[in-house]
Amino acid sequence: MKKKVECLIAMQKCDDKISEKENLKLELPKQLQTLIQEEEEAKEDVAETIEEINQVILHQKDKEILIKQNKEKALKYEEQLAAIKTNKEYKALNSEIALLSSLNSELESEIIALMEQENRLKELKGEREKVLQVKHKNLTDQEDVIKEEIAGLDGQIDKLKNERNSYVVDLPKTMAKQYKVLIINRNRKAVAFEQEGACSACGFKVRPQLIIELEKQDKILFCENCNRFLVRKPIY
Ligand SMILES: [Zn+2]
Repeated sequence: MKKKVECLIAMQKCDDKISEKENLKLELPKQLQTLIQEEEEAKEDVAETIEEINQVILHQKDKEILIKQNKEKALKYEEQLAAIKTNKEYKALNSEIALLSSLNSELESEIIALMEQENRLKELKGEREKVLQVKHKNLTDQEDVIKEEIAGLDGQIDKLKNERNSYVVDLPKTMAKQYKVLIINRNRKAVAFEQEGACSACGFKVRPQLIIELEKQDKILFCENCNRFLVRKPIY
């Protein structure tokens, strides 16, 4: 019986370590969160700049259309000039033509300003794309590191499982099965210790009679609340 209890304790030790490593495996990908967010922000910055460039180009086109329309209007007025009889009308039409011409030079300077803005934005886009590349590299590098760490943990977990399974052969089949079910259903804790009169896993009070039986070590006992194997705390 003592041997079986030792076996259970050794198996639980393996499962405790497996739990630790499984938890670490879940924690590792969370370390990527900041890097994922940084990459996302860098992507948004690039997209925002592209949108701004497109807007500036659209404004330029609008102004080019206006210039073209003004030129056509001015040309029509000039044609009309020849047919005009009075000086007053001639003057009025001429000042219209002059106005259109000054409007067009204003529009042209605005287009130049927009072109300069477009160039600045294109430079900014280049800079932001470089930042994005760096952020992307940071993320993929870290992903590789974490993948490696997870693979390492998987290897360690496999080793621990093999070690645990090497103890199972010393247990009766029904006990091995009980252990397995408890591991699955009881948060990977199948074996609990009697600790100052209580179950170490669920805290339920252990009856004095049960403590006496535990001392005797002549049969396998269970916590009366959580049904885990209940054993005496080993002295190492
Ligand atoms: Zn318990």
